[in-house]
Amino acid sequence: MVSQDHRDVAVWQNAIVHQRQRWSGEIGIHACFRCMFPQGNGSSNLPSSTLYRSLWKSRFIILFVSRIGETYLNLRSFFMEQTHTGRRQIRPPHHHVASLVATTQRSSTPNEARRPAQRRRRVVRNSGRPLQGGHQNSFRTPHQHTAGPSEGVLRIIPIGGCEEVGRNMTIFEYGNDIVIHDMGLQFPEENMPGIDYIIPNTKYLEGKEKQIRGVVFSHGHLDHIGAAPLLLEKLGYPPVISMPLTLAMIKHRMEDYKKGSSKQLKTIEVKGLKDRVALGAFTLGFFQVEHSIMDAIGTIIETPAGSVIHPGDWTMERDANDNTHVHYNQLASVKRPSVLMLESLGALKEGRHATNEEMYNNILEVMSKAKGRVIIATFSSQVERVKWVIEAAKQLGKKVALDGYSMKMNIEIASKLGYVKPAKDSIIDVHQTDKHPDDKVVIICTGAQGEENAVLNRIASGTHRSVKLKKKDTVIFSSSIIPGNERSIQRLKDNIYRQCDHVIHGDLMDVHVSGHGTRRDIVDMLKQVKPDYFIPVFGNHFFLKEAQRLAVDNNFPGDHTFVPDNGTIMEVGNSGFKVLKEKVPSDYVFVDGLGVSDSQNIVLRDRQVLAEDGMVVVIATVHSHTGELTQNPDIISRGFVYLKDNKQLIEDVRHKVKKMIVESDPKTWADTNQIRNDIRDKVGQYLFTKTEKRPMVLPVVIEV
Ligand SMILES: [Zn+2]
Repeated sequence: MVSQDHRDVAVWQNAIVHQRQRWSGEIGIHACFRCMFPQGNGSSNLPSSTLYRSLWKSRFIILFVSRIGETYLNLRSFFMEQTHTGRRQIRPPHHHVASLVATTQRSSTPNEARRPAQRRRRVVRNSGRPLQGGHQNSFRTPHQHTAGPSEGVLRIIPIGGCEEVGRNMTIFEYGNDIVIHDMGLQFPEENMPGIDYIIPNTKYLEGKEKQIRGVVFSHGHLDHIGAAPLLLEKLGYPPVISMPLTLAMIKHRMEDYKKGSSKQLKTIEVKGLKDRVALGAFTLGFFQVEHSIMDAIGTIIETPAGSVIHPGDWTMERDANDNTHVHYNQLASVKRPSVLMLESLGALKEGRHATNEEMYNNILEVMSKAKGRVIIATFSSQVERVKWVIEAAKQLGKKVALDGYSMKMNIEIASKLGYVKPAKDSIIDVHQTDKHPDDKVVIICTGAQGEENAVLNRIASGTHRSVKLKKKDTVIFSSSIIPGNERSIQRLKDNIYRQCDHVIHGDLMDVHVSGHGTRRDIVDMLKQVKPDYFIPVFGNHFFLKEAQRLAVDNNFPGDHTFVPDNGTIMEVGNSGFKVLKEKVPSDYVFVDGLGVSDSQNIVLRDRQVLAEDGMVVVIATVHSHTGELTQNPDIISRGFVYLKDNKQLIEDVRHKVKKMIVESDPKTWADTNQIRNDIRDKVGQYLFTKTEKRPMVLPVVIEV
């Protein structure tokens, strides 16, 4: 039996964990507390009203209002007074400037696409010491860019996608002309709480915007188009070249990001593989690739200095007899020297994939045998698969309900373009599924990666508005596991296995086909294309190194292959291939609810501290004439310790602060900087000796 005491402890521990989770993700603007109390006499370059609005919007402030009520109002008038009288000007921390310069509009990241950041890693410890600013944001700082390439040389710079999965973007520069390939986003790592996604760093292009002749997009996956709304805007809307579905998806994302912005888009639609697009010294040609989304296309980037062959994401589909459908031999005759930049995510995958036919047969069998509803979770970008399920369901006399923002959006776009033609009566609303017999219902949804707020997780946790799991339901995970998501998926599977008897996933049956070429596909590709140089791209460093080794093991000359980092400058021309010593900036550029910034390391560090050890706020009000405390200092703790159980500790802190203030003689204060720093340091040290935790200590000293 659990005693009442133990239950209380559990409840409060949960409350603390919950608080930390909320903060670690949502504290975005917490640092405002620092800018309320300026650190120096720097001049303000942010209107106080804007700063104040952002303060007001913050949940953090609301949290405090609920707790300290009157003190907050005093604080507000103090703050306003200080700002308006100019007695002490407010200098906002740089990250606010960064956030506000770009946009404060939240770019749409469907929740289902976000990975839960539940596991926290201790990266940087901080005792609440004031964090030094001094950082600049890339959206303002003019960049002293590297001089362009020498005459007759093609410069190739991957600024993302060579050290991670995602954020794919490559710059090609010849003379005064620049062509860009893809503008993808990367989902945040687990040590980046509250970040929605990461986009490529385009500092190298600052001052070169007018030289950009076009941006070619390989296909519509987010790791290839996700950063387009922000970066196209920033780079002055250069022409965009791609196939119809990809263009439609980019436009849709732009509208989500900023209403009306897609009107700025200049598009060149690729209608067929024979199309040629001239962009300054560049000529683009195209070739067919197979990938898990329609309208994926490979690009030949031709210049007087040679050609780059870039399939984007690709795979080689093979039939049961192992024959491939698509051939690449024609690429061996492009203008030389030729460089093959090859997506190498499958560089560790041996053997062959199941064929699409095998996968579809498996899903069809499961669907036809199902005695209850069939719930298929897959990537929203698997438009082709969703289309197939809709058609198969119709054959079986079943109705299909789609759920998940990105799922519905992608199918809507594909339907508009005629890629998917669901019969009118075959699609039903997900909230109407109860009106049909269970064995006549198929639900296709997002969330196969265990994402916290995506549809499948909501169904499994019982929080979905209209779909609750039943014992007879069949749940199919039709997607591969994205590295890093293993634990979330395991948790989700456990939850579903508890509730229903039929769960099908890749370990049991081929219900997913990867969209990436395996080891032997890579070797096949190299043998067909016969490039002069081989550059593996689009994956973590180890994938790229494995692809390189694979090439060398298959007799590709080792000195003609190179694994770049993000920011590496490679040059190719008649005199050969070289890698420059210098690199272009490729640091993270974060996007969160506040906007875009490459200077959020401090914010992230704060979020990590809050997530791990919580926060203690010390509020002291001092009479400026008499130098006396108007009342005992107020101590507020969140996510650190439960105050009622630690009365003595809190009392000791209160006493310590009181003593420090009295001994410092407030009448002699020039400002409150020194005393706040002292409180922060001493209270931080004291709490550490008592609890071995380092909560963020926020001292608030108000002179009245
Ligand atoms: Zn892709």
